[in-house]
Amino acid sequence: MTEKNTAAVTGEKEVESKNFIEQEIDKDLAEGVYDHVQTRFPPEPNGYLHIGHAKSILLNYGLAKEYGGKFNLRFDDTNPTKEKTEFVESIIEDVKWLGADFEDRLFFASNYFEQMYECAVLLIKKGKAFVCDLSAEEIREYRGDYNRPGKDSPYRNRSVEENLKLFEEMKEGKYKDGEKVLRAKIDMSSPNINMRDPVIYRVAHMTHHNTGDKWCIYPMYDFAHPIEDAIEHITHSICTLEFEDHRPLYDWVVRECEFENPPRQIEFAKLYLTNVVTGKRYIKKLVEDKIVDGWDDPRLVSIAALRRRGYTPESIRRFVELVGVSKANSSVDYAMLEYCIREDLKLKKPRLMAVLDPVKLVIDNYPEGQIEELEIPNNLENPELGSRKVPFCREVYIEREDFMEEPPKKYFRMFPGNEVRLMGAYFVKCTGCEKDENGNVTVVHGTYDPETKSGSGFEGRKVKGTIHWVAVPTAKQVECRLYETIVDEEKGKLNEDGSLNLNPNSLTILKNCYVEPQLAEAKAYDSFQFMRNGYFCADCKDSRPGSPVFNRIVSLKSSFKLPK
Ligand code: ATP
Ligand code: MG
Repeated sequence: MTEKNTAAVTGEKEVESKNFIEQEIDKDLAEGVYDHVQTRFPPEPNGYLHIGHAKSILLNYGLAKEYGGKFNLRFDDTNPTKEKTEFVESIIEDVKWLGADFEDRLFFASNYFEQMYECAVLLIKKGKAFVCDLSAEEIREYRGDYNRPGKDSPYRNRSVEENLKLFEEMKEGKYKDGEKVLRAKIDMSSPNINMRDPVIYRVAHMTHHNTGDKWCIYPMYDFAHPIEDAIEHITHSICTLEFEDHRPLYDWVVRECEFENPPRQIEFAKLYLTNVVTGKRYIKKLVEDKIVDGWDDPRLVSIAALRRRGYTPESIRRFVELVGVSKANSSVDYAMLEYCIREDLKLKKPRLMAVLDPVKLVIDNYPEGQIEELEIPNNLENPELGSRKVPFCREVYIEREDFMEEPPKKYFRMFPGNEVRLMGAYFVKCTGCEKDENGNVTVVHGTYDPETKSGSGFEGRKVKGTIHWVAVPTAKQVECRLYETIVDEEKGKLNEDGSLNLNPNSLTILKNCYVEPQLAEAKAYDSFQFMRNGYFCADCKDSRPGSPVFNRIVSLKSSFKLPK
């Protein structure tokens, strides 16, 4: 963590310590390289966004805001094969949800195809690009490798006129896919393989989601991306480390295409998380293999999944802030993300009672048929959330694990002869239990002491255990879903064959949970603390009016400590 982040966490006065990107921007502004800051987030619409993208979005948006600049959302939709409108829509929704405001600056790289084509023509005219007839395989052969310099293509010295004519014919659809490509003419002996006459246009007879069948030639990423940035007057093109070796090509393209005030590329390390799957490719496979319930399955870390699970934009922003920006790849502990959502919900959400694995407790000395309304505070740490009335009566549900006939040492909950407090209600002494023929406990019995009513000022004897409960006649039955991480990092994320080593217990469905009556009214995305059980959020897909399904966002306890 940087000093700045530590300061933000401890609430101390912020120590002036900027990350390396801010330092570069400061330098550029001081030297007059740029007089403003403009950033962008450039997703390829070939999947849903994930937590790693959130980092990139918030970084780019945050920098624009910090420097009084602008932030664009631009779809990098130059590859017609994989792109879908569904992804475009989900990405817009996610970026907005994260609070990264692109105002009216929503762009599509495919809207620049004409300018890109003109840039290519300019390169040809300058003798900086040529049409090549080598096959993809031959191009790879000729390119050489890290130890071997490349070899010039036999088509490298075609005349400008011939190149212009052939490129025009490529555009007009005279050639089949792969028959001809346009390549930049740079340097086949460059130590940087990206500079060995890279392909910048290919023939592809495919329908594009935006431009339809207008084009049958499509620009390659390394050529298109710098042009997109330059057209939008981006100043700092922030991308991830794998593009570091592509930077000389980026600079070559904006220079040779003669853009004024060209953008510059700055790289940072991707965000990786332990115990989850980032990377569109893996997420896509889990979705396609139907191992998860779509791109928003709450076990995933796509933004849609985090939202469905009950994460808030605030918690994700906080997480990204804590992680900071770095030049070195590393994995962040998943527990840190959980820490951030717990912290965010702690004071904001009411704390109610829900019994996930119920067994009935009968309080034998409580009047039959009587229902008493107890006033219980909604959040002891935040009185502003007020209080609510909770029905109490002779029969309540408690958690099965809160009773033991023969308790081990240090078990302070219900066992014959022991007294506990029912949260917000009375002390109850356990008197025994009933069992079925298999020895399973079916009913627990106890007696209450009317003198011990919570909030009555009773200061008598102490009890060591406090358990939650839900009154039987007014309880609502709901489904709760508990999650574990989808892969177990300690056992290895991948199997030997490269497939994911999935955790078979990543989802537990509990259909027989009982909750306080008001929880039956929960609507999609409403979240609560279920006392002792964790934070839960009403599922946006499977909840029905009066019958919510709750996803556990996170449990209450954690071994995670913020680094000092
Ligand atoms: P993936 O590797 O998951 O397939 P991608 O890089 O192919 O993602 P793009 O849509 O091309 O996805 O990426 C859009 C932007 O998000 C790029 O600038 C990319 O560098 C950035 N980005 C992608 N993954 C991460 C990550 N894990 N951490 C930070 N930024 C990321
Ligand atoms: Mg990509």
